[in-house]
Amino acid sequence: MVNAPADANTLELLAELAASTPRLDLAACRGQWELFDSTRVRAGRHVLEQGRAEALGICAQCPALAACGEWLESLPRRRRPKGVVAGRLIACKF
Ligand code: SF4
Repeated sequence: MVNAPADANTLELLAELAASTPRLDLAACRGQWELFDSTRVRAGRHVLEQGRAEALGICAQCPALAACGEWLESLPRRRRPKGVVAGRLIACKF
């Protein structure tokens, strides 16, 4: 599979996100992107529910939960990431 080059709008959005994303050095989800991504991707209902439950459990124990929640609240709703973030399930249809 060949990836298409990102357009200017995508690069601008990524730069904006990178600049506005806080450093969460103690984030418990660090290195677990597959689990957190699986909470928003159609991976099959059982896998999805299991992933969401596990991710929510990790967030509940995360030392960066408060800072993560403040960052999430600072974002306009349309810019908030989907899936499990800051101990919440964001904008998922099922
Ligand atoms: S609260 Fe959850 S999403 Fe936020 S940094 Fe911690 S583990 Fe990651």
